Formats: sequence, structure tokens, C-alpha cells
Amino acid sequence: MKRFQPFWFDDAIAEADLVSAKPLQHNLETGACIVGGGFTGLWTAIMLKQQKPELDVTVIEKDLCGQGGSGRNGGAMLTWSTKFASLVKLYGLEQARFLAQSSKQAVHEIKRIIDRHGIDCDCRVDGTYYTASNQAQIASLAPVVSLLERHHLNHWRTVDKEGLRATGSEANLHAIYCPHAGSVQPAKLVRGHRYIAVELGVRVFEKTAYQSHTD
Ligand SMILES: Cc1cc2nc3c(=O)[nH]c(=O)nc-3n(C[C@H](O)[C@H](O)[C@H](O)COP(=O)(O)OP(=O)(O)OC[C@H]3O[C@@H](n4cnc5c(N)ncnc54)[C@H](O)[C@@H]3O)c2cc1C
Repeated sequence: MKRFQPFWFDDAIAEADLVSAKPLQHNLETGACIVGGGFTGLWTAIMLKQQKPELDVTVIEKDLCGQGGSGRNGGAMLTWSTKFASLVKLYGLEQARFLAQSSKQAVHEIKRIIDRHGIDCDCRVDGTYYTASNQAQIASLAPVVSLLERHHLNHWRTVDKEGLRATGSEANLHAIYCPHAGSVQPAKLVRGHRYIAVELGVRVFEKTAYQSHTD
């Protein structure tokens, strides 16, 4: 019987995780307190510890780490390259370039961390296809690629007729492929982040909601 919604999170949680989930029940002083044990909070805790090992870092999470969006998303690791035009409009060319390049690096950095720490999260970095099954869709892919080419940011290539079969549907008339993409079981990944944080000496308190702040 499932204990948690959704499937991802239920699949990622062992009985031992429930036993080790300790609420904060006493006052404590800490160098940095991070509220929320999802990807953002746990990554921040890990990076703080890596950059400054002597810093005392604490994470408080109102449920179990990963029980928010991080443990219930699509698990797709994609770059922001296909959003480049919108990013330029919203943030300007330099920020858009930075976001496209860093999101590409992030895919491989996530894989490196998973491998280095042996996180079992079904990670695959096999790339991704964008497919088109009619002329309008074919026409809409071309400007995305040519804009990236103009800015020397293009990592997409057109799939040949033989390769089109690998896209999984005979309805596809055209496809582009980018190698910088993959997938993970997101709840297992975020629980892996919790494990790395604890290994680095971060104190993690679950079932502990942030309520108010006093200086
Ligand atoms: C349906 C869906 C599909 C998605 N698919 C993808 C995808 O395929 N690829 C992708 O890259 N991104 C995807 N995303 C986006 C991705 O899930 C989020 O960007 C990411 O999880 C955000 O992480 P976070 O740590 O900022 O937030 P969260 O994971 O939500 O973490 C915030 C944490 O804070 C805790 N919290 C809240 N209030 C308090 C409090 N008062 N005290 C203590 N703790 C508190 C919450 O319980 C939660 O655990 C998807 C999102 C959704 C909703």
C-alpha cells in the first residue's frame, strides 16, 4: 500500500528514512539556517559546506525533505536553450546567454554529483528530441535553432530519416536532437541530496516548520 503521494516520493522513502526524520525540539544556534529541504535548500546547504566547511549549517523542513515540488516533478533535465528567445526578451542577451550555458552545464554537473556520491536515482543523460508531426511544427522549430546558431549556442542537430524511427512515433516528420539532457527519478535525487548534506555535516531537521523570525 502506498504511504505517500505521489508515486515518486513513495518509491524513494524507506522505513529507515522515517525513523531518521527528527524534528527540532530545542533551541539551537547556527551559522546559516535554510528553510525548506527541496533541491534549492539542500543544494544551498551542500554548496555552503563545500565552500566553507567550518560553517555550521542547518536545514529545517516542514514535512520530509523532497516532499514538495522536488520530489514530485517530471524528472526531465533540460537546458533552457529552447527558451532562449523568451529569456532575451525578459532578461537581456547576456543573462539569456548565461542561463542557456549554465543550464547546459547543470545537466552534466548533476550527473557528475550523482556518480561521485553513488546516488541511486535512475539517472540517464541520453539527450532529448523535439519532434514535429506537421508543417506548422516543423516551421516553429527552425527559428529556435537559427537564433541559437547566430549566438554560437546551438547544440541541436537535425535528425536524419533513419534516426527519426528512434523518436518513437511514425507520425513524426521531423526532429531535432540535443545530447545535453536526461532524466532522473526526482524524489530519489532529492533524498540523495539530503544524504550528501548530512554526510557533509549539515544538520537536517524534518517535520519542523519555520514559523517566525526574531533578530
Ligand atoms: C508538476 C511539476 C512538474 C515539474 N517538472 C519538472 C521537470 O521535469 N524538470 C525540472 O527541472 N523541473 C520541473 N519542475 C520544477 C521543479 O520541481 C522545481 O523547480 C523544484 O522542485 C523547486 O525546488 P525548491 O527546492 O525550490 O522547492 P520545493 O521542492 O517545493 O522545496 C521547498 C520545500 O520547503 C518546504 N517548506 C515550505 N514552507 C516551509 C516552512 N514554513 N518551514 C519549513 N519548510 C517549508 C516544503 O515542504 C518543501 O519541501 C516541475 C514542477 C512541477 C510542480
